[in-house]
Amino acid sequence: MAGHDIAWPHLELSGFDAGFSEEELAIQQGVHRFAAEVMRPIARELDRMAPEQAYEPGSPLWDFHRAFAKLGIGPETMAGMEPRALARMESLVISELGWGDVGLAVSAGAGEMPIRAALGSGDPELIQMCEGRIGCWAATQPDRGSDGLLLYGEERFPGAKGNVGNLVARFGADEIVIHGQSSAWVSNGYVAQVALLDIAADYGEGFHDDRGNAHGCNIVVPLDLPGISKGRPLAKLGKRALPQGEIFFDNVKVPRRWAVATRDDYAIKHAGAWAQAGTAMSHVATGLARAAFELALAYANERRQGGALLADLQLTQYRLGTMGAKVEAIKAMARHVAEYTKCSPRPHPYFTAAGKAFCNSEMFAVVNEALQLFGGVGLTQEYPIEKLLRDARAMQIEDGENNLLLMHFGFLMTRLNRLEGWGQP
Ligand SMILES: Cc1cc2nc3c(=O)[nH]c(=O)nc-3n(C[C@H](O)[C@H](O)[C@H](O)COP(=O)(O)OP(=O)(O)OC[C@H]3O[C@@H](n4cnc5c(N)ncnc54)[C@H](O)[C@@H]3O)c2cc1C
Repeated sequence: MAGHDIAWPHLELSGFDAGFSEEELAIQQGVHRFAAEVMRPIARELDRMAPEQAYEPGSPLWDFHRAFAKLGIGPETMAGMEPRALARMESLVISELGWGDVGLAVSAGAGEMPIRAALGSGDPELIQMCEGRIGCWAATQPDRGSDGLLLYGEERFPGAKGNVGNLVARFGADEIVIHGQSSAWVSNGYVAQVALLDIAADYGEGFHDDRGNAHGCNIVVPLDLPGISKGRPLAKLGKRALPQGEIFFDNVKVPRRWAVATRDDYAIKHAGAWAQAGTAMSHVATGLARAAFELALAYANERRQGGALLADLQLTQYRLGTMGAKVEAIKAMARHVAEYTKCSPRPHPYFTAAGKAFCNSEMFAVVNEALQLFGGVGLTQEYPIEKLLRDARAMQIEDGENNLLLMHFGFLMTRLNRLEGWGQP
């Protein structure tokens, strides 16, 4: 076959894709433009600023949120789409946002958590409370990190009870009293105007059931109520465009009707919110992996060593081929998780967790290798790749630390095999 060149393959912005509808392509290109022209310049600027300035009124963060709201791609717009089409559309939109900047992409996504819960409840009061406001999802606390994500009592250390943490709700007949503090990690925590709380609850008989599980609840709360205050903005290694910080509640009273999940439906709604977040994190990782790969490709086509462009050296081609295959695998896994989560009659957040951990750890390998391909200059602020590596690092812990997520998936598979017979000959 030597010498019989065939035509180069068909590619979309997102790589080796085919069969997108005209609407899907138009939306993908629109979000890509937004990511390139709005997100990247703003994120670069915020990355270099001290957190005290980066998130203040008038900072570029607010320009991003105003421009994002105008895009019209929020959950209200996508409501009513058929599940498979919705999974596909979200994969295109969220991965382009991740390609733009993973910190701002999560600021936009976490910002939607309260309105998603409000729309799910169908309560006009809650929907109005969330519309046009920046939201957050407050689930972790200083003393309640990974263990807030446990879904089964038998995953706890023998003898341990469910962790109640530092932020709790006490339910009365008509009102709920919320007291304590969130972790400093709540995405948007420092700037959020409304929160979806995912916390332990006492319905009148203590925080635990007779098997030692902690009761939970989800409550939508506007953050301008008396008794609510914020901590300092978090200064961190990566994802510096994403404002994070603690939220304090001093015996804050809210009406019971603001609870969108209580004793009986909490577990399933907690699982649903977590699966939504994990799916989004997989798409965001897809975008970041591709962004790093594109930088490596461009650099290989401009840097000369040993008398040749890096791109013309076979070792470099092998390294780029390995990275490119991973980029496609991450994308495929993210879409698979998204489709299963939206279309399965009984999805499970431990599968979403496996997708988040896989996509994010493979993404980290791609970003790390991309930086390696730059040689020394990759470490400098003159080139954008060092920021991507710092951002990628944060994602190995965000939304569940990767090892822990895979541990949950492994637990699930052992139980499916032993108790449901799945995978037995
Ligand atoms: C960028 C970013 C954004 C975030 N956004 C949000 C948000 O929007 N809302 C929110 O509520 N939280 C958010 N978080 C918090 C995040 O969910 C937690 O950081 C994460 O779940 C890990 O909890 P932790 O930091 O308390 O670590 P820990 O749970 O203390 O874990 C520390 C180490 O111990 C290990 N470990 C823990 N439990 C076990 C176990 N049972 N067996 C073996 N090893 C174990 C872990 O693997 C880890 O390596 C965010 C975090 C980051 C980094």
